[in-house]
Amino acid sequence: MHAVNDPKHPYPRLPDTFAFSQSSLQAYQDCPRRFWLAYVEQLPWPAVEAAPVQDHEQLMRLGAAFHRLVERVEIGLDPALLAASLPPPLDAWFAAYRAHRPAHLPEAHKEVERILSVPFGLEGRPDSPEQGFRLAAKYDLIAADPEGRVVIVDWKTSRRRPEPATLRQRLQSLIYPYVLVEASPSLPWGPVQPEQVEMLYWFTAAPEQPIRFRYDGSQHQENQRRLQQLLAEILAGQRPADFPKVPDTEANRRRFCQFCVYRSRCNRGTAAGDLDDVEDMEDFFAVDVTAALEFTLDDVAELAF
Ligand code: SF4
Repeated sequence: MHAVNDPKHPYPRLPDTFAFSQSSLQAYQDCPRRFWLAYVEQLPWPAVEAAPVQDHEQLMRLGAAFHRLVERVEIGLDPALLAASLPPPLDAWFAAYRAHRPAHLPEAHKEVERILSVPFGLEGRPDSPEQGFRLAAKYDLIAADPEGRVVIVDWKTSRRRPEPATLRQRLQSLIYPYVLVEASPSLPWGPVQPEQVEMLYWFTAAPEQPIRFRYDGSQHQENQRRLQQLLAEILAGQRPADFPKVPDTEANRRRFCQFCVYRSRCNRGTAAGDLDDVEDMEDFFAVDVTAALEFTLDDVAELAF
């Protein structure tokens, strides 16, 4: 991308410390303009959207509290102590986790709330940017047996369990195993082969129906190709017109714009969608710019290898 104050390119650019994540790449894939507004311009949303955003933030706060509870149990704290006096719906979610934590997870190594990152540039291309972008992923739980399976577990607190086919299409299902395999030679218990890896989504809304995806070498290669393609498209863009809005169809308005905080700005309607219809909380696009940029090189540096 162009330099920050280059008069030939009077537009903002990604911060030098930007690290790509499943959230930012998903934003680009869903609607390139979303990516531009959220990650390049870093625009907060207009006040008119405040109410649904507040509801969304309340759900996000509950989700974060649930993740902290589970994290503590996974590192060895007594769940009975943690369960005392939890407010709803945390009490029900935590009871569901205690009753239905996925069985048969590898036990040899556990990584809890771990961030892994790998270099992310345009491989073998002279136009690859000088600044070193990274691709980062934050894992709720990695349960590993170096000689056997390595299971990535993601706890989901959305109100509904999505269809497996929908979840499979999300970039999280691609990026989490990809980053793990690429980063694994630096892990004390690595390296990991793609065939060892499994991604498991667990839902407070359906604790007995987790969704598992197996991973393998051909998926890994295909994922690398796709990630390179996405990065090349993003880095080729220099102005808003290079990041078009998703086509204005009824279906796209329903699927993307009604859950997007930029819809007034984009003239894509004023009413927010119903939060009950959100399958994955990340489908409600109310990116917190500070959190969205959580994976900066500053954060990643201390965890990088
Ligand atoms: S409102 Fe629609 S067109 Fe505008 S950024 Fe959001 S998803 Fe894209």
